[in-house]
Amino acid sequence: MKKVIIPILTSLIFASCNSKTAENTSENNSEINDENAVLTPNTKEIMDTHTLSNYKEVATKHLDLDLTVDFETKSIKGIVTHTIKNKTNAKQIVFDSKYLVVDKVVLNGSEAATFKLGEFDELLGTSLTVDIKENTETVAIHYKTTQKTEALDWLVAEQTANKTSPFMYTQGQSIFTRSWIPLQDSPELRITYTANVTVPKGMIAVMSANNPVELNESSTYYFEMKQSIPCYLLALAVGELEFKALDERTGVYAEPSMLTSCAEELVDMGKMVNVAEELYGPYQWERFDVIVLPPSFPFGGMENPRLTFATPTIIAGDKSLVSLIAHELAHSWSGNLVTNATWNDFWLNEGFTVYFERRIMEALEGKDYADMLAILGFQDLERTLNELTPEFQKLRLNLKGFHPDDAMTDVAYEKGYFFLRLIEETVGRDKFDAFLKQYFESHKFQTITTDQFLAYLNKELLIPNNKSINISEWVDEPGLPANCPTIEAKRFIAVEKQLEQYKKDKDLAVLETKDWSTHEWLHFLRDLDSTVSAQEMEKMDKRFMLTNSGNSEIAAIWFEKSIYAGYHGIDEQLEAFLKRVGRRKFLKPLYEALASTPEGLETGRVIFKKYKKNYHYVSINTIEGILGLK
Ligand SMILES: [Zn+2]
Repeated sequence: MKKVIIPILTSLIFASCNSKTAENTSENNSEINDENAVLTPNTKEIMDTHTLSNYKEVATKHLDLDLTVDFETKSIKGIVTHTIKNKTNAKQIVFDSKYLVVDKVVLNGSEAATFKLGEFDELLGTSLTVDIKENTETVAIHYKTTQKTEALDWLVAEQTANKTSPFMYTQGQSIFTRSWIPLQDSPELRITYTANVTVPKGMIAVMSANNPVELNESSTYYFEMKQSIPCYLLALAVGELEFKALDERTGVYAEPSMLTSCAEELVDMGKMVNVAEELYGPYQWERFDVIVLPPSFPFGGMENPRLTFATPTIIAGDKSLVSLIAHELAHSWSGNLVTNATWNDFWLNEGFTVYFERRIMEALEGKDYADMLAILGFQDLERTLNELTPEFQKLRLNLKGFHPDDAMTDVAYEKGYFFLRLIEETVGRDKFDAFLKQYFESHKFQTITTDQFLAYLNKELLIPNNKSINISEWVDEPGLPANCPTIEAKRFIAVEKQLEQYKKDKDLAVLETKDWSTHEWLHFLRDLDSTVSAQEMEKMDKRFMLTNSGNSEIAAIWFEKSIYAGYHGIDEQLEAFLKRVGRRKFLKPLYEALASTPEGLETGRVIFKKYKKNYHYVSINTIEGILGLK
């Protein structure tokens, strides 16, 4: 996923907050005391504390979904049939569910089964326990979703780009899939699936599977995912959609009014896939398509296999924000092919993906470009580290009792990246690339824990090359170790010089912005400090037209700095932005900036009340916390 800076459900992980963090972390022990100790994989049983299911005893191998999507009642109704493997002769199979209504359960196609729903848990949901027999091969659950279902976002026509038809999409990561399908919701478990999905006339359904390229008159679409995936990658989107092929294995889905601009922006996707394959081996998922969702999508992108879900905020008109696509593509290896076994190991998904993303961007745009991305990432990381309690500054987490989304901070992404970059710099790029290629190949379609990865790293790379890099501090200690790589980008140094000059002279003529990319603008705007007055912001705006920027990254940081400076020339465009965009990465700092003064807080509350309906559940939760509405 790219890129979630903010925890959702709780602020307990923030530095200003209290004791619950500490009491939940004592089990987070390190086994890497000896720097180059070779750990034996699987010495410790993998414990996923975010599932109520008994997948280690009896596990789903395959799912068949038969679903109807009903926009009238905003619900999905149907049957999920689990083909199971009973490894321990268990008498019951336990599934995860949350906010679902279960009507009946049928075994082997015809036998009515006894089942029981457990007590509701705010974090994990409700266990669904079904009695099974020795000969039980399939368990079919007849169910429907409810209004509370967290994974589903139902948009009315006005919230879409076309404004002619409603829209629905799912978000499974981290533990939301259980709220639209009763299943064993652990990333350690891999499944294959098929689906028949019936939707209203005139709409197309697409999934993380093989997809239709045009409207089907019957309105029932058939899907198949033959490669095994963790359940959080089950995904569905339904709406008025069109498809445009970009080349033989890449293409884009979008609402009709956006299709051309999306296809133009993403035209180089095929090249990206080629570059990624050259780096780390064959793309294993056949097609790589992207669906550009309506603006309420709360994330940058979600790496649903074969079909990345992406925010429309990457459509800048000049391809300047396509590194997000490189990120989601990289997940086709790190995350989707080799998956974190538990959410405590989330950095294995994201740290590798950020590293891989920047290698793709380096291959396409050059080293200085990729290093600018890395520096911006480092700035994000520093900001995040300042906000987090020590326990959440570690790569390996102990999230027992916490929502896994709380771990989706820059630590997993950027600290993970810098750890891997350090390994690259220590052993040399050639050796590290060979290691990574072999890592993906030898672990494909499997899951992995931090312990298992570190054992593999030591055995295959560090010990043979007689290198040590202070692994234990990187993985199990807060903050950033002293050996964190430092990065310089020539183009940023030039920006910094101009900014210094500007701060001295307050003369905009010293800024030579003609050739600045998005990254240079971001670097400049981030470094504008609080001494810049509203009058200076106004002058800058007149000269560079930043309030009207069509680039969402630039607009968002400009609005944020303007709010802090008390510059009101942005007010109208700020409100339009907050109305249109649901991406939490942008909403969070803007509402925070508003909430920093009593008047701003009032304005923020008024704006939020008006446009809350345009945001997804995960964004709403974050903003309600910021505005003191919880
Ligand atoms: Zn990601």
